[in-house]
Amino acid sequence: MSKKAVRIQEVEKTFFTIITTVLISCLFVLPSFAAENYTIKKYIKDRGLKNARVVAPGRLKIDGTRLICGKRPTVFDPTLDDYGGAFDGFIILNPRLLKRLPRQVKIWIYSHECAHQFRGPDEATADCFAIKRGVRRGWLKEDGMKQICKFIWSAPASHMHPPGPERCAYMKRCFASVQKKK
Ligand SMILES: [Zn+2]
Repeated sequence: MSKKAVRIQEVEKTFFTIITTVLISCLFVLPSFAAENYTIKKYIKDRGLKNARVVAPGRLKIDGTRLICGKRPTVFDPTLDDYGGAFDGFIILNPRLLKRLPRQVKIWIYSHECAHQFRGPDEATADCFAIKRGVRRGWLKEDGMKQICKFIWSAPASHMHPPGPERCAYMKRCFASVQKKK
C-alpha cells in the first residue's frame, strides 16, 4: 500500500470518528489531507447513501432563502451524525437534524460550512464569517443571533471548538462589528 493510500485511510478513519462523536460542530477536511479529487460522488458511495439529494451551486434554497457558496454543490446526508460538514469542494447538510431548527440557524450552519471553503479549518473564523455574511446579506437579525446562541450554548468544547458560550460571545462581537459598519 502506498504511503498516500495509508494517509487517506487514516483521514477517513478520523473523519468517521469525528462525525460520530461530535455534535453541533462540523467537519472540514483540508485539501492537503483529503484524497485528491474527493468528490460528492465518492462521498455518496463511501457513505452508502441511497437516492442522495445533490443540489447544484446556486440552486440551494433553505426555507425560501436562496443560498450560494461559490461553485460548491451541496449533498444532503440524513445519516450524518452532525448538522453539517464540508470537504474541500462541497458542503454536506443533514436534513433530518436541520428541519428542527429555526430558519436563521439553518442558514448560519450552511454559511459556516461555506466559510471553511474560503477560510480554511479554523472554527472561530468560520463562525464569524457566517455571522458577518448573514448581517450583510440580510438573512440574520438580532432574533436569529439569539437563536444561534441558544443552539450552540450546550455544545461541549472539542479539540476543534471552544465551548458553546464562548462561541456565542465571539459571534456576538462579530455581529456587533458589522452592525456598526452598516
Ligand atoms: Zn466548522
